[in-house]
Amino acid sequence: MKKFKSIFALACSALLISVAVVGCGGNTPATDNGDDSGSSADWPSRLAVATGGTTGVYFPLGGAFANIISENIEGVSANAESTGASVENVNLLNNGDVDFAMVQNDISYYGFNGVEMFDDQAAMTNLRGLASLYPETIQIVAKSDSGIMSVQDLVGKRVAVGAPGSGTEANARQILEAHGISYDDITPDYLSFGEAADGLKDGNVQAAFVTAGTPTAAITDLATTHGVTIVPILPDVASALIEDYPYYANVVIPAGTYKDQAEDIPSVAVMAMLAVNADLDEDLVYEITKALFENLDSLASAHARGADVTLEGALEGMSLEIHPGAQRYYDEVN
Ligand code: GLU
Repeated sequence: MKKFKSIFALACSALLISVAVVGCGGNTPATDNGDDSGSSADWPSRLAVATGGTTGVYFPLGGAFANIISENIEGVSANAESTGASVENVNLLNNGDVDFAMVQNDISYYGFNGVEMFDDQAAMTNLRGLASLYPETIQIVAKSDSGIMSVQDLVGKRVAVGAPGSGTEANARQILEAHGISYDDITPDYLSFGEAADGLKDGNVQAAFVTAGTPTAAITDLATTHGVTIVPILPDVASALIEDYPYYANVVIPAGTYKDQAEDIPSVAVMAMLAVNADLDEDLVYEITKALFENLDSLASAHARGADVTLEGALEGMSLEIHPGAQRYYDEVN
């Protein structure tokens, strides 16, 4: 696989001589900078970071991570790509179509082990961990005039369950199931957060699942123009859910997270993490991990949840084997 990738990269760089960049984005070797003492001359000059929809949290934080790479690693520039999020991202990363991915820790675990939604495909053995980031809360949103107050009230309703290829969609299925509800009992609509917010505004959907760091822009925007209710996931159901799917943890969505939200709302959360392709050069991943932790302020200014990222928390909830380059950095600083 590695060999195939480098042959492909070489073919791409040869093509670049006569053809425009199209199709050779991922792994073009950096031009030789004359420094033959290190391996950096062999590093790809372009790296891709898979994120999520533009109104989520992966997109701004993945963008900040890409900027950290471009600004700190000489000869390397990184680009954040909008995607359907976690499920799509682990596929892209495992196939080598991107170099890094923002992903939920539950979904990366399922992918690496070939279970749950991945049980009909080979285990994704090219996935490695770089860092655990921040909690992503399962937020079930309805308009306050909808009369929807509980998960049970979703029965018979048209519900946005996340974009195709999202982790949100997996969470929606599991949470409904924990309440004894299946997709046969609702009309599921596979929408991104932005589409779901528009659907709620227009009345085309009655509720939406959003698994993302809080506050999530799509919900913030909706709440500024329409009254919204965040539906609680009650502790007894949460306990049963956590027993079946241990990557969930109990959280509250603090009062005031969204306009007119007067109370704390109980829910569950998973962790967002950065995953990396196993084949990416160890020295390069070391340098990128170091640059990330030396520039945490850039994450904090991109989104409130960026401030949750710390060295101490970097391995909390980590569901993948750590890439050796990242591990070297953690060993060095700990
Ligand atoms: N966790 C979400 C998912 O994988 C995406 C969250 C985001 O875009 O911030 O579906």
